[in-house]
Amino acid sequence: MAKLRFIKVRCQACKNEQVMFEGATTKVKCLICNAVIAEPKAGKAELKASRIEVLN
Ligand SMILES: [Zn+2]
Repeated sequence: MAKLRFIKVRCQACKNEQVMFEGATTKVKCLICNAVIAEPKAGKAELKASRIEVLN
């Protein structure tokens, strides 16, 4: 099983950058414009935003 990490993503709607957990079990929304940036799927979040950095 892949290790889940924190990743930095950029909202495609407003370009806001924020950090989220790859294994999120609820929808993740942009803190600025409220767009959905990730949805939970089979143990790993499916990104709707661009991943720009992997943190550790
Ligand atoms: Zn946004």
